[in-house]
Amino acid sequence: MTIRDLAGGLAEEMAELRHAIHAEPEIGLDLPKTQAKILTALDGLPLEISTGKRVTSVTAVLRGNQSAKAVLLRGDMDALPIQEATGLPYASRHDGVMHACGHDLHTAMLAGAAKMLAAHRDQLGGDVIFMFQPGEEGYAGARYMIEEGVLAAAGPRPEAAYALHVSSNNLPLGTFSVKPGPMLAAADILKVTVRGRGGHASQPHRSLDPIAAACEIVTALQTLVTRRFDVFDPVVITVGSFHAGTADNIIPDEATFLATCRSYSAESRDRLRTETVRLASEIASGHGLTAEADYQDEYPVTVNNPAEAAFAAQAATELFGQERSQRAEHPITGAEDFSFVAEQVPGTFLMYGACPPDRDPATAPSNHSALAMFDDSVLPDGAALLAELALRRLAG
Ligand SMILES: [Zn+2]
Ligand SMILES: [Zn+2]
Repeated sequence: MTIRDLAGGLAEEMAELRHAIHAEPEIGLDLPKTQAKILTALDGLPLEISTGKRVTSVTAVLRGNQSAKAVLLRGDMDALPIQEATGLPYASRHDGVMHACGHDLHTAMLAGAAKMLAAHRDQLGGDVIFMFQPGEEGYAGARYMIEEGVLAAAGPRPEAAYALHVSSNNLPLGTFSVKPGPMLAAADILKVTVRGRGGHASQPHRSLDPIAAACEIVTALQTLVTRRFDVFDPVVITVGSFHAGTADNIIPDEATFLATCRSYSAESRDRLRTETVRLASEIASGHGLTAEADYQDEYPVTVNNPAEAAFAAQAATELFGQERSQRAEHPITGAEDFSFVAEQVPGTFLMYGACPPDRDPATAPSNHSALAMFDDSVLPDGAALLAELALRRLAG
């Protein structure tokens, strides 16, 4: 039986696992119920299984017919703090928590791929590491797993790593999309506190107004984007939170704001780190105030290794036809902690269209929406592609 035949036979089982995970979503690094479901799904397979110490990860190793090399497949497990509004029969039973990014599908597909590859073990020219990862949504779960040894789980460091991400909009149902080089942005946080001296709002000259200075910094950050960065190596700075003051007639002591800073190259990211901080502190000092600016590294750029991206695109084309395998025109402004894996192992991250057939991908609610829906029909082919990538990469 081919991988695709096997995948078809597992469609129902993968959908059931997905629905069970969807109905009981968990957030962050501690996902005991999700972990238990994965362990049950893998039960009886010829895998070496270990679980995380600080996080509820699951690492499973399938030994091939030789162990000289390995490939890593990754699926993330966590949900988001969103009140689900889809009305699906298997909708979240936990208030305020929802699998709105499709990680329930990723987990089900990875478990399906483990089953298929276990059945093809005699043809597997190396080992496969299945990386079930909690805490993708801002908790850097991948970094914990790397620290706990996921890249050494099979012995030799993997030669390649692959991850798939479903999309509830944009892409047509069943279409894979990948590009070489930067695939997703680096996402960091700039935290600024401008300190002045409060007083009566009718006598601003006797105070040091932090709000006026902070507003200048906010607009100057946009000027920084257009005047100091190459348009062909774009950056995004968005201030998403700004807080100061209590009343119209009081100048407060301080103003604080948070900005997300996105970039697509290590060079731009380095410059964002220094130039945003310098701009904030020098504008404040120009007005006689001080600013404490803290640039926090979150996720690096997810860079697709060109050879691995071409290999994955080729596999998707051969398996599912040219019309279902596209070259992504642009990177995505979202970020991913698969970037930590791809920093150490040549990797590729593919997007995968999962918009339900009765919705238009151009207008359907996006990932992270309370209305986001992902179609079960993508499960067999997504799992088949993951399994095929491992089989092909370990052959020869
Ligand atoms: Zn997400
Ligand atoms: Zn996601």
